[in-house]
Amino acid sequence: MSLSATKIRDSLTVLFSNLCTFSLILYYIILFESVFYIISIVDKLWRHPKRTNKTTIYGDLIDEHIPAAQYRAEVNSEPVECSVCLSKFEEGVVIRELQCSHFFHKECVDKWLQQDSPTCPMCRKTVISKEIVCQSW
Ligand SMILES: [Zn+2]
Ligand SMILES: [Zn+2]
Repeated sequence: MSLSATKIRDSLTVLFSNLCTFSLILYYIILFESVFYIISIVDKLWRHPKRTNKTTIYGDLIDEHIPAAQYRAEVNSEPVECSVCLSKFEEGVVIRELQCSHFFHKECVDKWLQQDSPTCPMCRKTVISKEIVCQSW
């Protein structure tokens, strides 16, 4: 009687310690995962803050100084194709006309202006003057 009770107690102890070990391992895995997650977030924030800000500032400046408009075939007789993507303008498509009177698809020219320094893809004329960019910095 007492022997089987001891056996049960022993096996319960083993089971309990196994559970403890298991939950400890689980705990460490979760801890490791969260630390890894935090590190990856911090790493992202550290690596790209300047670039993101610059793009956002340029985007805001472009929106402020070069208004977007809708393409109208009768108003905009020439040129009829966007020199960035080389496809023809369709009626009512959103375009952006630069100060040099060259115009492109809004999406095309926005991508272009954010990748390089803001110059016209056609004539390389500065799109936003350095003074404006410096003021906004
Ligand atoms: Zn285009
Ligand atoms: Zn131009």
